[in-house]
Order: sequence, then structure tokens, then C-alpha cells
Amino acid sequence: REELLRNYFSMSSVTMDGHQVHLVANIGAPEDGETVLSEGGEGIGLFRTEFMYMNRNRLPDEEEQFEAYQAVISKMEYRPTVIRTMDIGGDKALPYLELPNEMNPFLGYRAIRISLDRQTIFRTQLRALLRASKFGKLKIMFPMISTLEEFRTAKSILFEEKEKLLNAGVIVSEDIEVGMMVETPAAVMIVDLFAQEADFFSIGTNDLIQYMFAADRLNEQVSYLYQPYHPAILRAVQKVVEAAHLNGKSVGVCGEMAGEQIAIPLLLALGVDELSMDPSVILKARSQIAKLNHEELRKHMQHILTLATDKDVTEYVKLHLL
Ligand code: PEP
Ligand code: MG
Repeated sequence: REELLRNYFSMSSVTMDGHQVHLVANIGAPEDGETVLSEGGEGIGLFRTEFMYMNRNRLPDEEEQFEAYQAVISKMEYRPTVIRTMDIGGDKALPYLELPNEMNPFLGYRAIRISLDRQTIFRTQLRALLRASKFGKLKIMFPMISTLEEFRTAKSILFEEKEKLLNAGVIVSEDIEVGMMVETPAAVMIVDLFAQEADFFSIGTNDLIQYMFAADRLNEQVSYLYQPYHPAILRAVQKVVEAAHLNGKSVGVCGEMAGEQIAIPLLLALGVDELSMDPSVILKARSQIAKLNHEELRKHMQHILTLATDKDVTEYVKLHLL
């Protein structure tokens, strides 16, 4: 079986009828870039930079971050490399950063909210990213965006730092794309407005599911509400894809479900352009995609979108699409 999967190593990810998607990887450390390439990844769809801030006793300085970003960007040799700015808070605490003790950490001070509030930390990260941009194809992504102001402010801080670097004679790539995660219901509802300002979207279904169902993703008492194939989630993905494509923007999915067998035909049918997953499942996903027919999937989707529950959708996929 391993041998068979290896046949897909240097192929592109296309369905039987020639519909192409991009299979990229989620990573948490620069050295994972190696694995992405050895597993046939077409790029990086999510580098979770917070792991660089965790398990240590002080903030990583600009130089340290620059080296990490440069390493992963050059390793990818101009394949798209999406680096997400830090997503601390929620369940991810930092011993050296006094964060408030909150009743509802997942509804609290986390991700872009911290970055916009503690701008020194944010600006340091952005400078490191900008300096590393000339080594490949960097795409910068902001996490947990729910308002246009957040996205605009994050972008303007990025451009301020870029100007400063350029004025100091530092080389910065001219084609860095700036995108956002779609992981709050608010972002889904106004995605048409974001689509005019963001260069790309990546749907973070791990969080989007918890926020859509108002069910803490770490609370086992309510884990039955983690329903990736629920019509509410499928419709959210559909809405994002439609708005993005109307504006010529691409949509990825980088939550856990992107690499799952049941999700793959659904996400393709909904028109998602990119799936970002653990490197270890990329070849398996590519072999599954090679056996799918995109036109047929789209017809099935018309019916799937009339189904009422996660269970109905799952059963339909198992019966007709695997
Ligand atoms: C997500 O929310 O789906 C996601 C990819 O981000 P994280 O799991 O790091 O919150
Ligand atoms: Mg998330």
C-alpha cells in the first residue's frame, strides 16, 4: 500500500476529470519543511508559529524568528508558504506573558486580539516575516479575524513595518499575499466584504466548528457537537467559496477535517481550492482525489445540501462518494 501511494509522489492533485486542487501541509516547526517535501506536499498551508513562543521562558526575538521563517521559506523553494501570525491564548498559554485568567478563554483574549493589543510583539514578528520574504513565496495569514477593522489594522501595521524596512534599505518581496483565517461565524457572514480586501482565505474548521455550535472544542461534555459535516458547516464553506471566487480569491481549508476521507469529496464538491493537512496524509488524499469525478461530486452536492444532519451527510458520502 505504501508502495502504491508513492506513485502519487510527483503527480499533481487532480480528479479523474481534470479538476485540480492543491494539497499542502500544516506544520508547527521550521524543520517540518523537510517532511512536507518528502511526503509530496505542494507547499505549506499553515505554519503555526505559536509553537515558537511556547515551551520557553521568554519571547523569541526578531533574529531568532527571522532565521526560522527564512529556513522554512527557502526550504519550500518558491512553493507557496503560508505563515500564520501567532495564535496564542485560548488553550495556548505562555508562561512569560501574563494573560488574564478568563472564564471563557476561547471567547477571550487570543490570536489577532493579542497581536493588535500588544503591538511590540506583533511588529517584531511581522518584521521577521518581511525580512524572510525574499527567500521564496511567503503568504502572511492573520488568525481569528472577525471584523474588517481587525483585518485592516493588522494589514496597516504590516505595511508600516514594510515601509520602515524599505526605508532602511532592506529587501522585501513585492508579492507577499496577505490573507486571513475564516474561523468565526462573523467572518463567514461578511465574507463578501473581506473578499475585497484579503488576498486569500483559509477556513479554520477546528475553531469554526466550535464557534458555530458554541461548543468548546476541548470540553468532552459537549464533544458530540463537533460536527464537521453538519449542514451549517457545509453552508458556511459554500458561502466562503462563492464570495472568494466572485472576487478571484482562493479558499483553503486547514482544520483537521481537510485531511479526512469523508471531508475530501465534500470540500472538493464545494469548490475549495486547497486542502492543508498533516504531511503524513497528503499522498493518501491525492490518491483518493485521483479516483473522484468533480462534475459528479458537484451533482451530488446539490442533494447533499438538502440533507439535515451531520449523520445523514456522513452516510450519504460513505454510500456514494467513497
Ligand atoms: C483551525 O482552527 O481550524 C486551525 C487550523 O487553527 P488552530 O487549530 O491552530 O486553532
Ligand atoms: Mg484556529
